[in-house]
Amino acid sequence: MKNYKITLIKGDGIGPEIIDEAVKVLDAVASSSGFHFSYDEALMGGIAYDITGDPLPQETITKSLNSDAVLFGSIGGPQWDDLPREKRPESGLLRFRKELGVYANLRPAVVYDELINASSLKPEIIKGVDIMVVRELIGGIYFGEPKGRDENKGWNTMVYSREEIVRIAHQAFRIAQKREKRVCSIDKANVLDVSQLWRDTVIEVAKEYPDVELTHMYVDNAAMQLVLNPKQFDVMLTGNIFGDILSDEASMLCGSIGLLPSASVGEKIGVYEPIHGSAPDIAGQGIANPIATIASASMMLRYALGEVEAADKVDNSIKKVLSEGYRTGDLAQFDAKEVCSTSEIGSIIANYLER
Ligand code: NAD
Repeated sequence: MKNYKITLIKGDGIGPEIIDEAVKVLDAVASSSGFHFSYDEALMGGIAYDITGDPLPQETITKSLNSDAVLFGSIGGPQWDDLPREKRPESGLLRFRKELGVYANLRPAVVYDELINASSLKPEIIKGVDIMVVRELIGGIYFGEPKGRDENKGWNTMVYSREEIVRIAHQAFRIAQKREKRVCSIDKANVLDVSQLWRDTVIEVAKEYPDVELTHMYVDNAAMQLVLNPKQFDVMLTGNIFGDILSDEASMLCGSIGLLPSASVGEKIGVYEPIHGSAPDIAGQGIANPIATIASASMMLRYALGEVEAADKVDNSIKKVLSEGYRTGDLAQFDAKEVCSTSEIGSIIANYLER
C-alpha cells in the first residue's frame, strides 16, 4: 500500500487542536482510498523556543525536507511578543519558508453557497466567487537588503530579480490553465521600478501560455475591485507584500477566517496551512474552526501527493457538513442547525469519508 510521509508542525495556540482534526480526516480518506500516512511531529514557534531556545530548530528543517509534505498549524502568541525579533515565533516561520524555498503561496478564496450570509458583502456580489491568489513568498520587501533603522529613520528595500518573477509567473499561468485561464498581475508599475520589471517579465512569461489571458492592475485599484466586483478575478498574481494584503482582503469575502486554506510550494517541498494565526484568545477551549486546516490537508492531497480524487472527497465532505448546518462558534449565527466543537466537526467530516 502506498505510504506518504507527512511532517506535522502543530505549533502554538489552536495549532494542536486543528491539526489533530486534519489528521483524523486524512486517516479517514486514506483508509477509504487505499493509501496510508505516517506522521512525524516537528517543533516550531513559541513551543520550539520554550523547549530548545530556537523558534526553528534545525531538526524541523531536516525532517520537513525528508518528507512528502508538511502540514502546519499556526505559531505565535502574546507570551513571546517581547522576545528579540530573531527569537520570535514569526521569525522562525519566515526563516522556515526561506530554508525550504517555498516561493509560491497559493490562497484560494471560495465563497461557499451555504455561508453566503457570512460575508460582509451583498450575496449577489459574492455568489460564485472563486479566486486563487498566487503570492510570491520569499522575496520582495520582507527580505530585501538593505534594511534597518536608527533613532530617526527606518528603511526596507523592495527588490525582485528577473528569475524570482519568472518562476512565480510560471506557477500562476500553470494554475490558471487548470482553472478559467485568466491571470491578473498586480503591481504598482506607475510608481515603482521594481514593479515595472515585474510587469515586463510577466508579459514575457505569458508568451509561453497563449491559452491564458493576461491583464494587469495597479494594487490600489485591485484592492478596490476586490470588493466592488470580485467575480472578475480568476488567478491574481502578486508580489509578497501586495499579496499579503490582498489575500487577506480576498479571504474576508468568504466570511470566516476559519475556513480558508493555503499552500506554500517550491521545487523541493510544499507546506500546507490555514491562513489564520494561532488564535490565542480561543486556544484550548475546543471551539476553533478546523475547516481551514482540513481544507489545507485537501490541498496537500491535490498538489503535493497527486491524490486528486481523495482531495475532491474531502472538499465534498466539507461542503456537506456546511450544507447540513453543522457550525463551529465563529459561524453560529449563519444558518446553524447545530453548534459543534472543533473535534465534533472533524469527526463528522471523517465519518462522511468512512461511509
Ligand atoms: P488570528 O488569525 O490568530 O486571529 C484573529 C481572530 O480570528 C481571532 O479573534 C481568532 O479567535 C479568530 N480565529 C482565527 N482562527 C480561527 C479559527 N480557526 N476558528 C475560529 N476563530 C478563529 O490573528 P491574530 O490574533 O492577529 O494573531 C494571533 C497570533 O498568531 C499572533 O502571534 C500572530 O503573529 C500569529 N499568526 C500566525 C500565523 C501563522 O502561523 N501562519 C499567521 C497569522 C498570525
